[in-house]
Amino acid sequence: MKLQVNDIRNWMNLSNQLIQENKSYLTELDQAIGDSDHGINMARGFQEVITKIQDQSYSTPSDMLKDVAMTLMSKVGGAAGPLYGTAFLKLSMAWKNKSEIQVNDIKDGLQAGLDGIKQRGKATSGEKTMIDVWDPVVQLFSENDITDPFLIEETAKQAMNNTKDLKATKGRASYFKEKSIGNIDPGSASSYYIFSALSTSLQGA
Ligand code: ADP
Ligand code: MG
Repeated sequence: MKLQVNDIRNWMNLSNQLIQENKSYLTELDQAIGDSDHGINMARGFQEVITKIQDQSYSTPSDMLKDVAMTLMSKVGGAAGPLYGTAFLKLSMAWKNKSEIQVNDIKDGLQAGLDGIKQRGKATSGEKTMIDVWDPVVQLFSENDITDPFLIEETAKQAMNNTKDLKATKGRASYFKEKSIGNIDPGSASSYYIFSALSTSLQGA
């Protein structure tokens, strides 16, 4: 199980597909505990990512992910843009000069991405944000030898569903106080799509 430039391209294409298909759903989630723009933000940003990377040749996954990060940072907008931008930039930095990304590198990269999100958002686990999906996925890698990529999909999905019962204490959703309980966090849903896409791109890679 290892990732090369084309697998990363596949990961980004699959992420974009899932986000475009679920654009209205992400917006619905953000309607309940936010300002209804998460689907629009993510769909715009990921479409721009694909436009940016599709015909470019890259010598390493890191080079491609740097373009991904810069595009997300400037095109997604909202709170999520800088957070995803930071996560992918940290991933790119962690994988610098490597032409093949092994399971251990994925673990280190995702850990760096998670740390970046936490730092940038001044947030931690249990606050009903995308961190509540990134954290369990990073834990999965730290505690297990990942031989079946489907575990990533399962873990991320469960973690996304678990955000339903949390009360938001960061971001726009925190204005809803107790009323934020009962809805899935929109950023956790988009993070689930990104990890679901990673899981698929790792099958057979
Ligand atoms: P905005 O809240 O500016 O409208 P989006 O709707 O695009 O931005 O994104 C909202 C998502 O961003 C939330 O669902 C949550 O997962 C994530 N988020 C918001 N604030 C933070 C934060 N401080 N730390 C981590 N994630 C956050
Ligand atoms: Mg929003």
